[in-house]
Amino acid sequence: MHDHDAEGNAYFKCDFCRSPWSEERPMVEGHRGSLICGPCLRVAYREVVLGGGGVGAVSGVACVLCLQTNDVRHWPSPLDASVIACEGCITRAARTLEKDPDFDWVRPGTDQDS
Ligand SMILES: [Zn+2]
Ligand SMILES: [Zn+2]
Repeated sequence: MHDHDAEGNAYFKCDFCRSPWSEERPMVEGHRGSLICGPCLRVAYREVVLGGGGVGAVSGVACVLCLQTNDVRHWPSPLDASVIACEGCITRAARTLEKDPDFDWVRPGTDQDS
């Protein structure tokens, strides 16, 4: 999210853990300024994509990243269960972040995963 009351790095906050952007906390942007950070993405990927966990479609609640309600697995924010990311967005965001040369981020479950 974009926090209009904050300045500098704190302007960019992960929608899921509410942590501000930093050198160690890369972010991937979704629709309408929504953001998911690397650490959240790691947990989400592990739980939903690798583990088949998370929650199913939540009635009336859209994925904060794509604003769609799809009948797939979702990862709910640990802080607010009404903020969810769908499996498709988690996979897309993980690919995006993995390709970013500025960050040493790899998908969980790969050889480089430590
Ligand atoms: Zn986060
Ligand atoms: Zn989505």
